[in-house]
Amino acid sequence: MNKTALITGATSGIGAQIARRLAHDGFNVAINARSQAELPDGKAVAEDCKKENVSAVCFIADVSVYDECQRMVKEVKGHFGSLDVLVNNAGITRDGLMARMKEEAYDTVIAVNQKSVFNMMKFAGNVMIKQHGGRIINISSVAGLYGNAGQINYSASKAAVIGMTKTASKELGSRGITVNAVAPGFIQTPMTDMLTDEQKANILKQVSLGRYGQVSEVAAAVSFLASDEAGYITGQVLEISGGLAM
Ligand code: NAD
Repeated sequence: MNKTALITGATSGIGAQIARRLAHDGFNVAINARSQAELPDGKAVAEDCKKENVSAVCFIADVSVYDECQRMVKEVKGHFGSLDVLVNNAGITRDGLMARMKEEAYDTVIAVNQKSVFNMMKFAGNVMIKQHGGRIINISSVAGLYGNAGQINYSASKAAVIGMTKTASKELGSRGITVNAVAPGFIQTPMTDMLTDEQKANILKQVSLGRYGQVSEVAAAVSFLASDEAGYITGQVLEISGGLAM
C-alpha cells in the first residue's frame, strides 16, 4: 500500500494511537502537531510509526487557523504525493457552567474543535476530489449526541461536527469520498485524567461496561472506517462509549 493518512492533534492521546494504528495498517502517516513545542512528542509518535516500516513525518499547524491548514495539506500532499485519509482528531476542552463561562472559552473551543474540521475537510477534500477517492473520519463525542453539563462549548462543537460530517458526506459522496464520525464516550487519556475522582466515579456509574474505554478501542474503529472494506459506509456516527446512558 502507498496511501497517506493525516491525523490532526496526533501528538498525544487518541490521535497518537490512531497514527500508530494506521501505520500498523500500512499507511504512511502525517502527524500534525499544534506548535513547535509539541514537535518532540510528535517525533516520538513518528518513531513508533516507522517501526511498522512506513514513512512518518510531523507537520506543524494550528488547525483552528484556516491558512495554516491550507499550508499543511499542501505540504503533506507535496511530501507523500497523495492524501488518502484525513482524521480530524484535534480537540480541546474549556469546561464550565454556562452561567459563568467566559466568551473566550466558548469561542476558543468552537475554533479548535469545529472550525478546524471545516478548514481541514475543505483543503483535504479538494485533494481527494482530484484523486477520485478518500476517507474522512471526524472525532466527535457523546457530549455532541447527548449534551453534558459544564460543556456548552464542547457539546456545541461536537454536535456541529456531526452535522458537518453528514453534509460533507453528501457533497463528496459522488467523488468516492466517505465521511464518517466516531463519538467516543469516556476514554482514558490526559483529557479525562484531569477529572476529579468524584467526577470519574459518577461517570462510570453511567457506563454499561463499567470501565473507561482505551485509546486503542477508538483507533480500531477509525482503522475500520479508513479501510477499503468500509467503502459503502458514509454519513454515519459510530458511538464508542461502552453503552453510555447520559
Ligand atoms: P488530548 O488532549 O490527549 O489530545 C488532543 C490533541 O489535540 C493534542 O495532541 C493537542 O495538541 C491537539 N490540539 C489541540 N489544539 C490543537 C490545535 N489548535 N491545532 C492542532 N492540534 C491541536 O485529548 P484526547 O482525549 O486524545 O482527544 C482527542 C479527540 O478525541 C478530541 O477531539 C476530543 O474532543 C475527542 N474525545 C475525547 C474523549 C476522551 O474521553 N478522551 C471522548 C470523546 C471525544
